Amino acid sequence: MKKLFSQSAARLLLAVLVFSFGAGYAVAQSAPTLSVYSTLDALLAGAYDGELTMQTLHTRGDFGLGTFNRLEGEMIAVDGVFYHARADGSVTVAGPEERTPLAYVTRFHADRTLRQESPLKLVELEKWLDGQLGNPNLFYAVRIEGAFSEVSVRAIAAQNKPYKPLAELVATQSVHTYPTVRGTLIGLRSPAFSKGISVPGYHWHFLSANRQQGGHVLALTLAAGSVQVESIAKLDLELPRSEGFARADQSRDRSQETKLVEGK
Ligand SMILES: [Zn+2]
Repeated sequence: MKKLFSQSAARLLLAVLVFSFGAGYAVAQSAPTLSVYSTLDALLAGAYDGELTMQTLHTRGDFGLGTFNRLEGEMIAVDGVFYHARADGSVTVAGPEERTPLAYVTRFHADRTLRQESPLKLVELEKWLDGQLGNPNLFYAVRIEGAFSEVSVRAIAAQNKPYKPLAELVATQSVHTYPTVRGTLIGLRSPAFSKGISVPGYHWHFLSANRQQGGHVLALTLAAGSVQVESIAKLDLELPRSEGFARADQSRDRSQETKLVEGK
């Protein structure tokens, strides 16, 4: 009887140890991580062809933003679905073989949820968020579900080689404006020191609730919404081994080009 008890106790102890170790391992594995493919400066320099497919990107995150090869439109990832917003204003679900030259994704788990009930223009929204987020030297994924007005989104049409630098293409971008629309704002706030890799400050993409409108946000007003925030202290950066990336001049400061391209 005593032996039986001690065997059970040993099993229980083993189970507790395995569970504790397993849980610890799981926690370490799931620390919020921003997976980045390529660099902002490479895109600004005209490296518009990447090797990374949506299928692979899907394994790295379910929420984020980016673009597509040949700079064809804007990529928007929400709840594990990758959307493709084009210059003609259309939005489709991206195919698994579509490729990206620049992407930022994370497995989104909010560590905070906030409510915003008073109308805020984009700059006011960003200022309010700055006050809420705190530490300026971490990355943050921000998801806002709500009602919006005067949403202006842009997308650029597919480019042909030889590719021009992005700043020269801004004049050709298509802008679509929606007076009132419900939807999701997908945001990334990046620290100042990450310039070159990401847009310092906020980078927003929008997707309407009916999943038929969206793109890179130039302007909007948030009427009211729920704001989910995830702070991120881990970065996983993959650099393309492509010719385009190798040749992209990433030796100079492209802050002015970034401002021009981001519409800031
Ligand atoms: Zn964008």
